[in-house]
Order: sequence, then C-alpha cells, then structure tokens
Amino acid sequence: MERELDDLLHCPCPSCGAQLQYNAEKEAMACNHCGYTEKLVLGKDRIEEIDWTQARTDSKHTVERRLFTCQRCGAKTTVNYDTPTITCGFCGSTNVNPDATKTRLFEPQGIVPFKISRTQATESFKNWIGQSIWAPNDLKNLARVDTLHGIYIPFWTYDVQTHSEWEGEAGTYYYVNEQFRDQNGNVQSRQVRQTRWTYRNGTHQQFFDDILILASRQLPQQTIQKVYPFLLENVVNYEPRVMLGWESEVYKIDPQEGFSVAKKIVDDRIESACAELLADDTYRNLEVQTEYSDQTFKHLVLPLWICAYQYNGKTYQFLINGQTGSISGNRPVSVWKVLLAVLAFIGLVILFSVLGGR
Ligand SMILES: [Zn+2]
Ligand SMILES: [Zn+2]
Repeated sequence: MERELDDLLHCPCPSCGAQLQYNAEKEAMACNHCGYTEKLVLGKDRIEEIDWTQARTDSKHTVERRLFTCQRCGAKTTVNYDTPTITCGFCGSTNVNPDATKTRLFEPQGIVPFKISRTQATESFKNWIGQSIWAPNDLKNLARVDTLHGIYIPFWTYDVQTHSEWEGEAGTYYYVNEQFRDQNGNVQSRQVRQTRWTYRNGTHQQFFDDILILASRQLPQQTIQKVYPFLLENVVNYEPRVMLGWESEVYKIDPQEGFSVAKKIVDDRIESACAELLADDTYRNLEVQTEYSDQTFKHLVLPLWICAYQYNGKTYQFLINGQTGSISGNRPVSVWKVLLAVLAFIGLVILFSVLGGR
C-alpha cells in the first residue's frame, strides 16, 4: 500500500474558492476563474550565505513514490515524492508539494518569481523563429504554445576568496637585421622579430561573488550561461506559493559537485588575470597555485522557459530567461535557402568579372 502524498499547498481564492496561481504579468497570486488578485510581498531576510564546512554530498536523495490524489477531480496517480509541482494528468490542475524540498539536505533560500508570462514567452519564441532568414518556411508553424515549459530551476551560488602564486616567462619582442640573397643573387637586409624571455613571479588576490551554477541535469551549464545574467539583487525569500501554476524540480547536483564546476570557472578567470600580470608582449610556461578561503554557498531557484522542438527528426532547444527575457537557442537552417543564396552570389561574381573584363 503506497503512502498518500499529503500536505499539498492550499491557496484558495477568497471570492470563489478555486486554487490561486502565481501570475507573472501581475506579479501576484491570481484566480483564473473570477479574476481576483492578491499582491505577494516577499522579504529578503532568509537569504544567507552558508559556510562551506556545511557542504556535504547529499545522502538524502530519495526515489520514494507516493500516491497523489487530485484536489480538483479526485484522480489518483503515483508520483515521485521529490517532485515540487505536480500537474494532474486528468484535469490539468497544478499542485505544489512543499515537502519535496525536504527530500534534500538543503532547502531553497531564495527564489526569483517568473516575470515573463506564457504569452510573452510564446511571442518571443515566434519572433525568434521567424527572425532568421535562413530558417525553413514551415518552421513558423512549429511555434506552438504547448511546447514551452515554465520551470523553476535549482541553482547554487558560490562566493570564494582566492590567493594565487604565479610564475612564468614574459616574452618581449625585439627586431634584428638579417641579410639574405634575393632571386637575382643580390644581398638584401630585412627585419626579423625575436623574443627575449624573462622569468617573473608574483601573487594575485581575487574575490568571487555569486558564481551561479546549475543544480539541475535538465540542460548543460554552458547552455544556461547563454541566458545569463539573472539579476540576483531581486532574489526574494523562497515561497512555495510562487510555484503554483508552474513546473519545478529539486536539485540533482549537490553543493560539492556544483563547486567543482564553479572552481573551473574561477580557475580560468584567475589564469587569465595572472597571464595579464605576467605577459609583456607575450608569455609562456605560466604556472598558478591557488588557495581558496572564506568559501560560502547559497541555494536559489530561478525561472526559465524551456522549449525542445523537433524538426526533421532532430531536436532543437530554445531558452528564455524567465526574469529578464534574454533568449538563446539553436534552429534549423534551410539547405535550399542557403544554396540559392550561394548560387546568387556566384552569379553576381561572374557578372561583375564579365562586366569588368570588357
Ligand atoms: Zn476566484
Ligand atoms: Zn485532476
């Protein structure tokens, strides 16, 4: 006998009793039945840095299944207990399971509520698809609303102080005169560039604030970075009501694993900074040793519109930052359109060379 999923979030409309949902356009809880709206004022006092010594590999991950009884239509289905938002497969009602986050060691501290509504996201997607002159003509018909998902995605942010010792060789260019014989056997001279190498070393300190790392496996870190930045100054206290009417997930990448991704980003930036300190005209053999201290992290939930669409058997992805509306994605290219453009160009080149040759 499966355990019931209880304590679903109740947020009834005071005037008609239907479940309220978070409305991105109005930035309020709103009723889709009677139009009632209620402003949601959220503080920022619970968003605090967690000391790195608290970071542990999460052993609480659970795959437990629970029986979900839809509050609206009564249909029963089995769902993962760690699913924060459940859409009833029978009536489409959306439900929030506030206990989902308790299946993980760290609960979200902050959230950025959706600002880009479904209407705006659909509009952006259609514009973006239509914008490319290389896109196949029938692609515009693909811009269907139901392929877009508004999902609250889990993230980690990391702060870290770094102290680095670097050493390497700085290269300075200089020029020497060189004599050579030309085709006719005459002695000529020319300038040749040489590099003088000088050993250098030094230190570099850099503080990194809020390095934002994806805690979901839905898409790669590199993909999400294309719709950065999120304006983290607008993060408010985590509030499950904001998830009513949306999709969401709990983190799948724990703080330790997330930090190894952040560390790569940090190390790359330190290396560039040290290279700049070392280089004269150029540099080589740069070695950097870094110590990390004052390390902290936070757990945030941020809004994202995700669309995966199929065209000619290939999957393409499209993303919208749910806070800023920033867009990224890949789209198919029409082979015929590109071919025609190339042929037209070749035609013009031939035409001009014929005209020029007269
Ligand atoms: Zn109502
Ligand atoms: Zn239902």
